[in-house]
Amino acid sequence: MCNYQGYEFGAGRYPDSYCVDGLLHDADSDYLNEESIPCPICDRVGAINWWFGRWEGSCEIDDDRSDDVINDEHRRRATLLVDDIRNNRGITDPQATAIPEGISPAGGY
Ligand SMILES: [Zn+2]
Repeated sequence: MCNYQGYEFGAGRYPDSYCVDGLLHDADSDYLNEESIPCPICDRVGAINWWFGRWEGSCEIDDDRSDDVINDEHRRRATLLVDDIRNNRGITDPQATAIPEGISPAGGY
């Protein structure tokens, strides 16, 4: 558990997520989420996987690159996003720019 607050639930102008035991909860809801969203501070790799999972396989209609190429980009974007969140809160570590192993279907990192 940490003091993270973020914007994962899309309220936009104010922080709407907070960390409970490493999972994010919606500040606008009294209910626990059905979906487990890993806290980007407590669980960097889990959070990257979660963002990647939201974007995996999605692309622009006229984007004719292969799924592998597009998913590589999603994975990189997810990593950058989570590391950005961490950097904004003063968390920097030597691994900060490494794309985690184990989330590439091809295992290619
Ligand atoms: Zn946390």
